[in-house]
Amino acid sequence: MIKSACPECDHEVQIETTPNLGDRVICLSCKTALVVIRLSPVQLDWAFIDPIEGPASNPEVKLLDINI
Ligand SMILES: [Zn+2]
Repeated sequence: MIKSACPECDHEVQIETTPNLGDRVICLSCKTALVVIRLSPVQLDWAFIDPIEGPASNPEVKLLDINI
């Protein structure tokens, strides 16, 4: 289990598998879409800025029901 602080609300976001750069996660506290921008240590940033790769590059993303 990897943990990193949410840049929006400072909530501790848990990532179940070893993340890769560009992986998307959702903060369970503030529902912000986040992206992994650094691996050691894991650092998260807002995901709405620019997709690092293509929109289909993260097929493992499970939390898609975001209402922004
Ligand atoms: Zn948050």
